[in-house]
Amino acid sequence: MADIIQLLPDHVANQIAAGEVVQRPASVVKELLENAIDAGSTFIKLIIKDAGKTLIQIIDDGKGMSTTDARLSFERHATSKIRSAEDLFSLNTKGFRGEALASIAAIAHVELKTKQEQDELGTQIEIEGSEIKSQEVVVTPKGTSIAVKHLFFNIPARRNFLKSNNVELRHIIDEFHRVSLAHPDISFTMFHNGSESFNLPKSNYRQRIVNIFGGKTNEKLVPVEEETEVLKVSGFVGKPEFSRKTRTEQFFFVNNRFIKSAYLNHAINAAFEGLMKDGSHPSYFLNLTVDPKTIDINIHPTKTEIKFDDEHTLYAILRSSVKHSLGQFNIAPVLDFDR
Ligand code: ADP
Ligand code: MG
Repeated sequence: MADIIQLLPDHVANQIAAGEVVQRPASVVKELLENAIDAGSTFIKLIIKDAGKTLIQIIDDGKGMSTTDARLSFERHATSKIRSAEDLFSLNTKGFRGEALASIAAIAHVELKTKQEQDELGTQIEIEGSEIKSQEVVVTPKGTSIAVKHLFFNIPARRNFLKSNNVELRHIIDEFHRVSLAHPDISFTMFHNGSESFNLPKSNYRQRIVNIFGGKTNEKLVPVEEETEVLKVSGFVGKPEFSRKTRTEQFFFVNNRFIKSAYLNHAINAAFEGLMKDGSHPSYFLNLTVDPKTIDINIHPTKTEIKFDDEHTLYAILRSSVKHSLGQFNIAPVLDFDR
């Protein structure tokens, strides 16, 4: 008899997990922004160099970490957000898998500085490829700064597969839009190669949309509000005459989390039926609030796809509430004579 099974060393397991969680610089941006939000931050700053290939840094003013937690945060399955499987059904945080920091630290150089309000001094940790290089006591403001450098330094195949800076930056901006739209009550700034790309002050939802997509957006927004026992819908749709050739202004948030859903998208298209030219897409910025017990967000590591208990009912409510809003604004159908 020969035994051949071994447990993988942690750094190998982390690198494998990283393959799922971190596809590109934008994935790191998403995970770190979400951590900053979960930490209760009111101001979040994102600093990017070379579309995230050389540097992704996030500085927040959230609750920070103790020295022990700072070290633990890089362990796999280490999380402060859930304690038992039941907690998955009452989640009010973005994170819960305890995998992001461990994954990121497995494939990049990471420098963490963090301090809790009540502490005089903070902690600085440097970690490269899952290996802790240094840990020191530092003077640092309340909150957390995480700098991620040289992403995929130890996985050349991944590094070489990254797209051009323009494409990678586009993905980063998409994540930044999604997270900042879901949290208008938090201030966000973004800097790329030293210049400011976004400066979003704390505001209401309409202002946040306008701050991101420009002043012209304001006049096209039609409010949508609906509350039933199973679903609360709030947000805006674009008037049909402003519909676009691209789908870049389509956002669903479920319990403040950006999600993709072809099925719910179809519900919106159905509500716009007869109001738009073929080949154009409505803009929408819709927040859906449901009982966390009725969804499963744990079907994919990046959590952008979720499973609803009762998709059909949500579809019907969404469609009718959007239709109702469009009707209230007296929107005449677009008669497409010139085709
Ligand atoms: P998760 O978010 O799923 O818990 P992460 O690997 O992203 O897993 O983070 C691990 C833990 O590190 C978090 O549960 C949290 O306690 C802590 N942490 C991470 N980022 C921050 C931050 N910006 N501020 C305070 N604590 C943080
Ligand atoms: Mg996280």
